[in-house]
Amino acid sequence: MRGKGRITVRGIVQGVGFRPFVYAKARALGISGTVKNLGSEVEIFARGDNFDTFLTEVSHGPPLSRIDSVEVFSTQQDIPDGFFILPSGTGSLTGMIPPDIAICDDCVGDIFTKGGRYADYWATSCVNCGTRYSIITEIPYDRERTSMIEFPLCPDCAREYADPGSRRHHAQTIACSACGPHLTLVDARGNKVEGLDPVKQSAELLDAGGILAIRGLGGFHIACIEDSVDELKRRLGRIEQPFAVMVHPDHLRRLACVSPEEWQELTSPVHPIVVLKKRDPTAHEAISNLHTIGCMLPYTALHHLLFSRLKHPLLIMTSANMPGYPMITGTDQAMAKLNRDVDFFLTHDRKIVNRCDDSVMRDGYIIRLSRGIAPKRTAVALGSHCILGVGPELNANATIYKNGFTVTSPHVGNVRNPPTLEYLQETVRNLQRLLGAKFDVIAHDLHPQFLSTRFAREIASDHGLELVPVQHHRAHIAATTSEPCIGIAIDGVGYGDDGTVWGCEIFSGQVPDLRRVAYLEPAAMPGGDLATRFPERMLYGILPEKKVLSLLSRRGWSDIELGVLEKQVTSGFNVAQTTSTGRLLDAASALLGICRERTYDGEPAMKLESAAAGGCAEAWELSFSTHSGCETLSGRSLIENAFTRMEAAREGDLRAVRDIAASFQYNLARGIAHLALHATDREGMKKIALSGGVAYNHAIRETIRAEIAGTSRSCVLNADYPLGDGCVSFGQCVYAGKLTGRKD
Ligand SMILES: [Zn+2]
Ligand SMILES: [Zn+2]
Repeated sequence: MRGKGRITVRGIVQGVGFRPFVYAKARALGISGTVKNLGSEVEIFARGDNFDTFLTEVSHGPPLSRIDSVEVFSTQQDIPDGFFILPSGTGSLTGMIPPDIAICDDCVGDIFTKGGRYADYWATSCVNCGTRYSIITEIPYDRERTSMIEFPLCPDCAREYADPGSRRHHAQTIACSACGPHLTLVDARGNKVEGLDPVKQSAELLDAGGILAIRGLGGFHIACIEDSVDELKRRLGRIEQPFAVMVHPDHLRRLACVSPEEWQELTSPVHPIVVLKKRDPTAHEAISNLHTIGCMLPYTALHHLLFSRLKHPLLIMTSANMPGYPMITGTDQAMAKLNRDVDFFLTHDRKIVNRCDDSVMRDGYIIRLSRGIAPKRTAVALGSHCILGVGPELNANATIYKNGFTVTSPHVGNVRNPPTLEYLQETVRNLQRLLGAKFDVIAHDLHPQFLSTRFAREIASDHGLELVPVQHHRAHIAATTSEPCIGIAIDGVGYGDDGTVWGCEIFSGQVPDLRRVAYLEPAAMPGGDLATRFPERMLYGILPEKKVLSLLSRRGWSDIELGVLEKQVTSGFNVAQTTSTGRLLDAASALLGICRERTYDGEPAMKLESAAAGGCAEAWELSFSTHSGCETLSGRSLIENAFTRMEAAREGDLRAVRDIAASFQYNLARGIAHLALHATDREGMKKIALSGGVAYNHAIRETIRAEIAGTSRSCVLNADYPLGDGCVSFGQCVYAGKLTGRKD
C-alpha cells in the first residue's frame, strides 16, 4: 500500500471545479495534503490510509472535466495534517483552456430564489458553470488572470469562496449584485436609461417591438421578437438569410421537432444553436425560409431573467456583426457601429477578453465550432514539431499543435477582409500565449492569394520557419482520419493542385500521401466569382446549350447578357474550370427557379435542400467517364435529366419541382458514392472517409452512407470537428505533422 504520493492530473482540469472536487474527496476520505493548479495541470500532494481509494476517485474527476492522464510519483515532501487548496504556480502548459459553460440548474434555481444572495443577479455562476475562455488572459485559470480581477469579492462572496461546503468554493467567477459586474441599459444616442431593473425594462422594450443589442458572454447579440423581424432585416439589409432564435424551453416543441439526441445537445453544458426541422415547414417564414430553424435555449443567468420577464416565448438572437466579420465585443464599438441598427443597448461592465460566437450543430455534426466547445483540445500524436494551421479563407479558425495535442480556436469568420484577418492574427497570438507555443512549422492553404496564406508566409519569413501548403480537400480528409482510406471531400470551392477550382474530390492513400483518383467532371464557371453569385451562369457553364439560353431569355435575361455569357463559355475568356459540388447544386437550384441570386454563403444549395425535403426521389441513370486517368461523374448529365423533367412538368407545379430537387440530390449522392466505391475496388481499400460542407445536407450525406452501407466498406465522418471548413486548420496541422514527422 502506498499511503503517500504526488499526483499530477492533465486534461480539462481547470475551470471545471477540479480543486474543490479534490478537496471534498480528501476531506471525505481523511486524506491530508494540498492541491493546486500548476501551469495547466493540477498537482496534488496526498497522504492517508485511503490513498488508493482517493486516487481512484480523483481519476474520475468532476462532471465537466476531461482527464487525459493521472500520474503518481513517490515524494519525500512532508505533508502536514489537513487538506488545503494552495495558490496556483506556473508550470508546463499542456493546452488546457476551459471553454465557457452554460448556466447550471442550481444557479438557475439561485437566481429565482426570492431573498437569496443571487436573486435576480444576471452574472450568477458557480464552479460548474459560467464564463471561462471569454474572460481568461493567462493560464493557470484563477480570478486574477481573468477580467473578473476588476471586481473584488464582497465579504459574503469571500466567505462563500472559502467555504468547502459551498458550490462556489474556489469558484473563480463568483460574484453577486453587491460586488460583481452590473448591467446598464442605454439608448441609441448613448444616454443611460434610468431604472432599477434593466432586465425588466429590456423585456418591456422587446415585447413592445424594440430591437436591442445585448452584450453576452463572448460578444453582442441583436435581439427582437418575431413581430419585429422584418424591421430587423430591413435595418441589417439581410433579407434572405435565416436567423437563429432563443426559445423558452416550454415553447421549443411547438416550433420544431426535437429528437432525444437533439434535446441532449440543446441542454448540454455547451447549449449550442441546434438546426432543427420546423414542425410546419411553412411557418415562421420571416425568421427562416428554409425547412429548418436554428434554436437555442437560454444559456446565461441574464437570458433566464430576460425570458422570465418577457411575454413573448421567442427572441431572434443574431450575432451583432456582418456575416463573416468578427463579433462585436466592446460597448463603445457596439454603440459606434450599431446605433442605427438597434434602439437600445443592454450592456455590462465585464470585459470580454476573448471573443466567442455561438456554436451551431446539426444532426449531431458541428457547423460552427465556438462557445462551449472551443478552444477544442484533442490528443493526437504528430511528432515533436510545434505546428500552426492558419485555416482556409471562409469559416476559418486556427489550430496549434504542441506536444501531443492540438488546440483549435473558436470560429473566426471569413478571412477576406482586414478586420477578420486581424481577428485571426489576434486569435493566434492569444492561443500561442496561453499555450506557450513556439512554432516550428506553419501550415496553410495551397491558395497563393488568400490573406491567411500571406499571414502564414509572414510568420514563416519573420522567424525562418518551415511552410507547409496543404491542398484544401486533403486537409478535409486529414481532419477526418489518418488511416489508409478513400477520402470523399464535397464542398464549395478549394484551390486545386492544377490551379483549377476543386470541390468534389476522391482521394486514395494515407495522410500525407493522398492521390486524387476521381472527381466530378469539370465545368465552366463563366465570369469566375460572378457564377457563384448568379447561379444561372453556372447552369449554362455546366449545360452550354441553346435550351438553357432560351430558358434564361424567358426569365428576363437580355440578348446582350446572353450573348456575353455564350461568348465567355465558347472562348473560355474569364472562365474558371471547377469540380465543385456546391456549384453543381447551385446550378440545379437556379434551373428549378428556387434561387437565382445568392445573397449569403450556401443559399442556393440550402434552398434546394429545403425544396427537396418535401419531394420524392427517383433513380436516374448515372454517367461516368475518364479524365487524365481518373474516373469522373458527369454533372452535366444530372442537370440534363433535371432539365428534361422540368420541361415535362406543368408551369408552376411545385410538387414536380420538389421531386426533381430530391432526385437531383439523390442521384448526385449516389454518383459520388459510386466514384468512391469504384476507387475502393481499384485501390483495395476498406474504409471511406467523408468530409466537406455539402455533407451537412442530410439527404446527400445519408444517401452516400446508405450506398456504402450496402457494401463491405465502412464510412467514417468526424463528428468532433466541423464537416465544413471549420475542420481545415486542424486538418492542416495533422497533414503537416505527418509530413514533417516523416522527414525526422
Ligand atoms: Zn452554476
Ligand atoms: Zn459579492
